[in-house]
Amino acid sequence: MSLTLTQNDLSHVVAADREHVWHHLSQHKHYETVDPRVFVEGKGMKLWDTNGREYLDAVSGGVWTVNVGYGRESIANAVRDQLVKLNYYAGAAGNVPAALFAAKLIEKMPGLSRVYYSNSGSEANEKAYKMVRQIAARHHGGKKWKILYRERDYHGTTIATLATSGQPQRAAQYGPYPDGFVMVPHCLEYRKQWDVENYGERAADAIEEVILREGPDTVGAIVLEPVTAGGGVITPPEGYWRRVQEICRKYEILLHIDEVVCGLGRTGSWFGYQHYDIKPDIVTMAKGVASGYAAISCTVTTEQVFDLFKDAPQDTMSYFRDISTFGGCTAGPVAALENMRIIEEEGLLENTTRMGERMLANLNVLREKHAVIGDVRGKGLFCGAELVADRKTKEPLDERHVQAVVAGCLAQGVIIGATNRSLDGGLNNTLCLSPALIATADDIDQITDAIDNALAKEFV
Ligand code: PLP
Repeated sequence: MSLTLTQNDLSHVVAADREHVWHHLSQHKHYETVDPRVFVEGKGMKLWDTNGREYLDAVSGGVWTVNVGYGRESIANAVRDQLVKLNYYAGAAGNVPAALFAAKLIEKMPGLSRVYYSNSGSEANEKAYKMVRQIAARHHGGKKWKILYRERDYHGTTIATLATSGQPQRAAQYGPYPDGFVMVPHCLEYRKQWDVENYGERAADAIEEVILREGPDTVGAIVLEPVTAGGGVITPPEGYWRRVQEICRKYEILLHIDEVVCGLGRTGSWFGYQHYDIKPDIVTMAKGVASGYAAISCTVTTEQVFDLFKDAPQDTMSYFRDISTFGGCTAGPVAALENMRIIEEEGLLENTTRMGERMLANLNVLREKHAVIGDVRGKGLFCGAELVADRKTKEPLDERHVQAVVAGCLAQGVIIGATNRSLDGGLNNTLCLSPALIATADDIDQITDAIDNALAKEFV
């Protein structure tokens, strides 16, 4: 590590953090006795903190983001060059990187056509919800205004996106929520609600039941994660997506796929939906679009959706009356262009597929060895291991043990993640693994070895 700060400076940094920073998702009482961890530098898959301690990051910056790894000079240089040329212009005018990235992105998304820029996954989803509501107001006489979402999925942290949170622990205490968001059942086969052979189709049929209950003419869209992330790394069961697509067509419901975690490349294809032959109307993305080198999110639509906002020019209410101030920053799209070039030129989609298979295979070996691993799931470098107290009853493992496994990995210098326990019976007891798409076989083995050791220590 090449630290330019002295140890004195670093002690000051930790003190400043402890005194003044309000950390995300953190219980701060904890920091009254323990120093917050503050990272100083990253390179590839590695991170270093203020104590000079080295870590292998198996969660891409904590939340599935740094897909091309840390310390990419070519992205930093591209952003620097762009910032001194033109850092920003927002509103109705465009800028060069925004146009070039939109064209490049659409090349990877056959059937889609328009890119609307903003800065976070929540914002991208909220834009999509606004599009659906405006389409309802203008083209369906105020009908088709409801948006369906799925149990265990997550779409963001704003009030409207929390209204579509399928994870009750995220939404609790922040209500009341706006009307018109309706939940459909989850599709996790390991915890199947219907004891049938064609579980995937049955889980999709449950969506149709909700549509019929609500009234098809009231439902405008459904938002779904292609592979559920924070809700427990849920890969879709066989037959699920085919049926979901049929149902959306049958009732003229827009299919909005939330790719905030899966895009770009996390599952081994540019987008998660591309594994399942889905034809979405709206796709949102954020985290992996520029790998965290700059803030950027996109709400991408088909030309048919876009056309619905192009009524007569004299109608002053017909266009999408929305703006994102920092959607005019050029750093996002220029970083995204370089991020995409790296993924292509370094063959990272192929690497993700290969390394993802290795990770799943390693986890399945661990499952044979450790009774607390109830289920192993994943697609590409997006894997989860669900921990249970009892394999027969599938009683979720107590959160203290789950956190002890995470801490056990950290003690070995490997950062892994875990979903939080849910309020509704504790179904979010899953270890989450999502290393950068550059991971090598040695990295993968180091990660799963750390889990093996941590489990052995916790459950002697
Ligand atoms: N959608 C999904 C699937 C996510 O996992 C997240 C964040 O974790 C979001 C949306 C919200 O993204 P952001 O935190 O950038 O607002």
